[in-house]
Amino acid sequence: MTFGKLLCLACFSFGIGFAQSVTKTTRTFYLGEEKVWVDIYERPGTNITFVNLHDNENTSAEAGRRFVAKYGGRLIELRHGRGREVVVRLHGELHRFDPNRMFSDAGLRSSLKYFRNNSDKVFAIAAAFRDSVIKLVAVREGMVIVALHNNTPDKMTINDYRPGGWYGKDTKKVSINPQRDPDNFFVVAQADLFSALSSLDYNVALRADDPPDRGMFLDYCFRHGGVFVAVEAEHGKLTEQMEMLEALRKILREKYLITAHEAGLSSP
Ligand SMILES: [Zn+2]
Repeated sequence: MTFGKLLCLACFSFGIGFAQSVTKTTRTFYLGEEKVWVDIYERPGTNITFVNLHDNENTSAEAGRRFVAKYGGRLIELRHGRGREVVVRLHGELHRFDPNRMFSDAGLRSSLKYFRNNSDKVFAIAAAFRDSVIKLVAVREGMVIVALHNNTPDKMTINDYRPGGWYGKDTKKVSINPQRDPDNFFVVAQADLFSALSSLDYNVALRADDPPDRGMFLDYCFRHGGVFVAVEAEHGKLTEQMEMLEALRKILREKYLITAHEAGLSSP
């Protein structure tokens, strides 16, 4: 770590003792005239990386912060104050794209087009930002990545993953529990995680083997050997989203997570 990086390292505690404090590092990126910050919260204890791509999905980011404070791990959070989409600003003009469509050139191009931009210059700036995020996340074989999202009631639900639904073609299997809020669900890339979550009666979708190229973070992580889970909950439902993360942790611990004890660190 360079001296410059050390200087920008802010250390703060969540009131659970010095040895367990969370470190926060902020990186600043320029997309034309637009500033985007990427906050990285870290605490030793669990080999899990949370990623919050949509800046307005704050409940999920808070759930990630609480998890990292309690068990350890890493949270990467995009921050820019523009809402869900990231913006490239050139000569005062705003060009939007969905950061969960930027993980392939085709996906990024089609997201920019969706928001009515087809300029190569804007594409190049957005792609450079995408590459920086990829470098920060640094997916490698066996790494556990949990994408944190929130949704608006009934706008995007587990029902969209059924055959014929919006994400029907993206989905191999779906398990729906009518007793649960359809806004709260998991999307996984590994079949064993699908079985474990559905046997606990959670709403869960298993990604198709060869889904359409939408430039989604899930597909990027899976292609690079990551163990991927998206946790979607309704905006504001922090208790529910925390409960989902606790359940997921128990499942992941059996096979994928190295605990603080195994890593030779003090137990959380
Ligand atoms: Zn989202």
